[in-house]
Amino acid sequence: MPATPAWPPRSAPRLFVPAPLQQDQALRIEGPQAHYLARVMRAAPGDAVILCDDVTGEWLARVTVAGKRDVDLMVEARLRAREAVPDLWLCAALTKKPAFDLVLEKATELGVDLIQPVVTRRCVADRINPERAAAIVTEAAEQCARTALPRLAETAKLDALLRAWPTGRRLFFADEAGGVPAVEAYAAHNGPAALLVGPEGGFDDAERTAIRAHPDAVAITLGPRILRAETAAIAAISLWMGVAGDWSGGAPTA
Ligand code: SAH
Repeated sequence: MPATPAWPPRSAPRLFVPAPLQQDQALRIEGPQAHYLARVMRAAPGDAVILCDDVTGEWLARVTVAGKRDVDLMVEARLRAREAVPDLWLCAALTKKPAFDLVLEKATELGVDLIQPVVTRRCVADRINPERAAAIVTEAAEQCARTALPRLAETAKLDALLRAWPTGRRLFFADEAGGVPAVEAYAAHNGPAALLVGPEGGFDDAERTAIRAHPDAVAITLGPRILRAETAAIAAISLWMGVAGDWSGGAPTA
């Protein structure tokens, strides 16, 4: 006798859709998402699809028609409300594309609320492609079953970011020149937080001085080794999630 599949099946494809969902809604999926459902996942009528809208949460839908170019779905039931997201921003200096793509993906998986691309003097790039970044973040959220997308802020220069900094949001500055051990600094603060990580070439002296002088900034160390920018971002987020985020219970949420 075949094993009874779990309901809904864990392997059901997950998709974020752009408009809010509701019960008994008929929905047409087009373009690359339809290709993914019909060709990659071979979705057939009756198959379950998990939908998220980044507003109301996560829904179970079923395929009604699987066409070549588009797939029709019927929304059946809400499975989960949109999750509460720990109130952590990642302010990451732009790096070469593959490293920054990795940071977008991993920051999403690890659970940040907002990703702020930052331009510093030693950055090798000064812009990102927002559509591409949104696609990476969305795919990562689908893959790890987030029901909330991290927000993607517009790229900002470091000095502008510091000038407009929201008072009271603690800015943990990952400084390879040294600082308070990250775990200690995180544990000493309960409230909105952000991490600032430099580019491949690090911050220059003037930038380091300006950041350290900012009233909300605390320089942190991630240990005695010089990490690549992407490693530093991943490590700094992971530690924060463990100490103050939702890996440890009562996290402040955005
Ligand atoms: N090229 C620089 C290193 C830059 S590392 C140099 O040789 O000095 C890239 C970024 O990762 C840094 O700007 C910093 O934000 C972060 N980083 C790397 N290692 C770190 C560490 N041990 N502690 C804190 N931050 C670190």
